[in-house]
Amino acid sequence: MNWFQKLLVTVLPASWAQSMEADSRQWFMKCLNCEFEQSYWDLGGIRWKATGNSRNLRTCPSCGQRSWHMTYKKGE
Ligand SMILES: [Zn+2]
Repeated sequence: MNWFQKLLVTVLPASWAQSMEADSRQWFMKCLNCEFEQSYWDLGGIRWKATGNSRNLRTCPSCGQRSWHMTYKKGE
């Protein structure tokens, strides 16, 4: 966990923190260039009570290319 995640886990009620982590772990960012995917939580991010997919242009940690990444929720 990074400092921001730790801070939220510290200040929020335990049930909220668990829900936040569980939700963030279901969201993934997938590189459309090499198919590499990583969960939002593992990226140090928080995505909580969010809906809808989005696309972001970012540098992929796997293939090193600046490529489109699709954000989507697994299991939906
Ligand atoms: Zn990639």
